[in-house]
Amino acid sequence: MTKYPSHISIETFHGCNARCTFCHVNQWERKEGQMTDEVFDSILKQLDGWGQKYIKQTALMLNGEPLFDKNLEERLSKCKSAKLPNVGFTTNAQLFNEKRIAKVIEADPDYIVFSFDTLDKDKFEQNRLRLKHERVLNNILSFIETRNKMKSNIRIVIRHIDFQADKKEFSNYLEYFGKLLRRDIDEIGYTKVHNSAVKKSIDENLTDHCGTSPCGAVFNRLTIQHDGHVVLCPHDFNAEYNFGSILESDILEIFNSKKFNEIRLIHEQNKRHTMSKCKGCDEPELNLKGEMYAKYTPSGELFYANVFTGFDHNSEREKVDTKK
Ligand code: SF4
Repeated sequence: MTKYPSHISIETFHGCNARCTFCHVNQWERKEGQMTDEVFDSILKQLDGWGQKYIKQTALMLNGEPLFDKNLEERLSKCKSAKLPNVGFTTNAQLFNEKRIAKVIEADPDYIVFSFDTLDKDKFEQNRLRLKHERVLNNILSFIETRNKMKSNIRIVIRHIDFQADKKEFSNYLEYFGKLLRRDIDEIGYTKVHNSAVKKSIDENLTDHCGTSPCGAVFNRLTIQHDGHVVLCPHDFNAEYNFGSILESDILEIFNSKKFNEIRLIHEQNKRHTMSKCKGCDEPELNLKGEMYAKYTPSGELFYANVFTGFDHNSEREKVDTKK
């Protein structure tokens, strides 16, 4: 039976302006650069038909800062014209300016995620090397204001990364952004740092081995790097598990290939620790505990906490009362 991914990540640009201490950016070995139109248009063409039906999230980002992609707005518009679901991207916001903010809003994506870990300037700049706290915060505030002025319905997600995993700052953070965001559509994310870069898990109960639970990424995610190769998951930044190029094989054939299915079987048999990339990755275990990625409405209601099976924003959000 044909399997379909529910999440697709398309790396329209590989490379980043930041050097975050908790990210694997310093381990990237692939050549930096922009996805060509040939690759991007081929992806869209291949998704047409089933993508509109099965995909729940279309993310134009992977290992890199999407605002480096000079065609980002045009590509967002193309995804929207193709009627792909839940189109958007995650950004560190440093490269925004007024003109770019307006252009992105005009492209009308469904969502934008701002990775803005903390309101504490020192903590932010110690962890987000090369980024300036004031500039990033001003860009986010300006995006919110312009979105509102332009009467756009882009969902804004502001994501807090809790470096100490002690939730000490989160209530202030929630209060600060809760007042600024639209209660009917916006979100505030809470994330613990996963260990893909630093190797040591923030959860002291997890050993170097981390666990054997099957990972949702291998069942649900389609991860396409900027040169068109499909890899295991967003943490496979150096393409250790390369399933082939979408320019040479059909995307669905790659997703349903023998090689990909063998990896799913390894996960189903709780043998994930036998794979070099998955051994020691704490995402599945943190996610199972609901500690990987939680979402809150601006009024503070928790409405979703499963990074691998969620992202169906509309149905998840309908379950909570956002009018308080
Ligand atoms: S266990 Fe970690 S490395 Fe393996 S597929 Fe899942 S997220 Fe990726």
